[in-house]
Amino acid sequence: QKNWHEPPYKTRVPEKYYLMANTSQRASAVIVILARNRDLRGVVSSITQFEAKFNHKFGYPYVFLNEVPFTEEFKKEVSALTTASVKFGLIPHEHWFQPDWIDEARASAVRHRMGPILYGDSVSYRNMCRFQSGFFFRHELLEPFKYYWRVEPDVQFYCDIDFDPFLFMEGEDKKYAFTITFPEFKRVIKGLWPAVKYFIAANPDLITPDNAMGMLADRTGTYWNRCHFWSNFEIAAFDLWRSDAYLKFFEFLDARGGFYYSRWGDAPIHTFGAALFARKDQIHFFNEIGYLHPFFGHCPAEPLHSRGRCECNVTESFDTHPWSCLDKYDALFSPDGPWGLNSNTS
Ligand code: GDP
Ligand code: MN
Repeated sequence: QKNWHEPPYKTRVPEKYYLMANTSQRASAVIVILARNRDLRGVVSSITQFEAKFNHKFGYPYVFLNEVPFTEEFKKEVSALTTASVKFGLIPHEHWFQPDWIDEARASAVRHRMGPILYGDSVSYRNMCRFQSGFFFRHELLEPFKYYWRVEPDVQFYCDIDFDPFLFMEGEDKKYAFTITFPEFKRVIKGLWPAVKYFIAANPDLITPDNAMGMLADRTGTYWNRCHFWSNFEIAAFDLWRSDAYLKFFEFLDARGGFYYSRWGDAPIHTFGAALFARKDQIHFFNEIGYLHPFFGHCPAEPLHSRGRCECNVTESFDTHPWSCLDKYDALFSPDGPWGLNSNTS
């Protein structure tokens, strides 16, 4: 029986990455925030906490992205929150807006039908999901960097982060890190799993051996359990997305039109990208990082809770919620394999 109040030792960040915080050694890394001008209050809230809990000690630079120019007010207020470098980028038109080859009649019928679902009738939300899936990592302001941390408006960081997560990613050869994982809503993934299955069958040479698909699918690869990493929090290596394999995967999915003919999110697409093109040991659960995006949070248990002086209640942590897919992630590393005994024999 798994007890998530005592996470496995393997998820702990080694001491040396705490000690590096006190040196001048830093990774090639950037904090990325996609936001609208009207997200200013939520952005100020997130950055204030992010600086207090982590970045005032590290000074990692920020890049803000928007499909329209940021206002002077936005730039001024945000820049005042940190001594680190802050840059504001405009997203190229062709990276954001609904492509011409999308059948707008079909797309609008879908939006109408999906109206009652969260963001179901929104074009801008779909543009955002497509941008986060296939384009953010191509932005010129992000080109110089190897790693990023995605931050959103109105999130909370519960604990002091006294280690360098980017040097950890680099030093331990990690490609993708998450804090919360659960099944995606059924109604926004129409056609996604069949497309992923088709891609896998058509491109066996692009799939990384010892990958993490066992967390997401049954042993025959027939069904997806809809588990995904919640991508509003991400610490990851840009080269995962900039790889030929992922770019081909994204272009294949994009051509299916599912960003507009359904409401595919960037979270499941990044999840499949990480699960197919990284090794499973390159996907990391950051147990140390207490985090809340309404309405789910991850709150570290002892001894991490005291060490990070976390401002959260462990009993409210999503880790132990029945929906959490953390047990499926953990099973990837079980000696019995993700599907139980003898899973390697079939
Ligand atoms: P949710 O987390 O799925 O509920 O969606 P959010 O509203 O938080 O949007 C996800 C991220 O994309 C946040 O960082 C938003 O600020 C950003 N975002 C969403 N829609 C837009 C948009 O139309 N333009 C821009 N520039 N950013 C957006
Ligand atoms: Mn959000």
